[in-house]
Amino acid sequence: QLLLATASCDETEGSEENVRPRRLDDYIGQKDLKEVLAIAIQAAKSRGEALDHLLLYGPPGLGKTTMSLILAAEMGVNCKITAAPALERPRDISGLLINLKPGDILFIDEIHRLNRVTEELLYPAMEDYRLDITIGKGHSAKIRSIPLPPFTLVGATTKVGALTSPLRDRFGLIQRLRFYELDELTAIVLRTAQILKVSIAEDGAQEIARRARGTPRIANRLLRRVRDYAQVKGMNAIERELVSEALDVLNVDSRGLDWTDRLVLGTIIEQFRGGPVGLEAVAAATGEDAKTIEEVYEPYLLQIGYINRTPRGRIATEAAYQHLGMMEASRSRG
Ligand code: ATP
Repeated sequence: QLLLATASCDETEGSEENVRPRRLDDYIGQKDLKEVLAIAIQAAKSRGEALDHLLLYGPPGLGKTTMSLILAAEMGVNCKITAAPALERPRDISGLLINLKPGDILFIDEIHRLNRVTEELLYPAMEDYRLDITIGKGHSAKIRSIPLPPFTLVGATTKVGALTSPLRDRFGLIQRLRFYELDELTAIVLRTAQILKVSIAEDGAQEIARRARGTPRIANRLLRRVRDYAQVKGMNAIERELVSEALDVLNVDSRGLDWTDRLVLGTIIEQFRGGPVGLEAVAAATGEDAKTIEEVYEPYLLQIGYINRTPRGRIATEAAYQHLGMMEASRSRG
């Protein structure tokens, strides 16, 4: 079913595919999203049409790719996966579009990064299932239109605001993925453990969930690391204490913050007296890429209320001071 056109390079591991939920019923959490999509699937199926184009947005690792594959499975079609940085030349996107079968899903990750030419090729493709190819150059250039089969574009982005409005307007469905609740992440860890044949206690799964930053991909990754740790220590059952021990060794703290999160927070507090400070200044002081801070680290720090965004920049909150145990030192200096 899955035709991997150009897989995006992410942190997935070898057995990642085995743990992906395959049907809508196995997809844990994201209740609103599932409701909307279940209706869209049923309606499209009963009309015998392709699903409406769908834009999924939200932080990385929340299950956008997984959802796209599920939609394909539910509709009984293929899903081709690609990412905007792999669509540099017009022929990259043309090649993908021409080879689609009726009803197929084309998943484009990081869709906010499409270049202008590729994006403009997508407009008539999305609207009228038509590919307009320019033949020749200058005055003698001609446009040839090639009909395409009805298909569904699923776009994924961490930055919905970075999409141009003509592109955004061509999606019939625009849906946000949220960080997962603790009970949902616990269920995901228990499900993955079962697939990987790892024996884990409920409180062990909960502890992983607590440190997974609201993100299934991280929950699954931590579970694998804890499994390794348990194996090396010769422990059969994974309980809360063992999870804490293993994750402390991995530098994942009680709120799931890693070394970089703490560096970002610590920098705002120590070097910029808690802010407000601009993103670029934080990036320069930490040596991290500004985009990575904004798209990967910041969303969760905002979600748990460790930083606030103000028109003048980022501010570290009281909770962040407390978490890092930095209260007295920085306050007395400020
Ligand atoms: P990115 O935006 O970076 O492409 P993503 O949001 O598409 O990431 P996925 O690769 O789809 O994230 O999901 C990461 C992993 O998390 C999957 O392999 C899957 O096993 C697990 N996962 C994601 N969502 C769920 C869910 N709702 N229920 C169970 N497992 C999930």
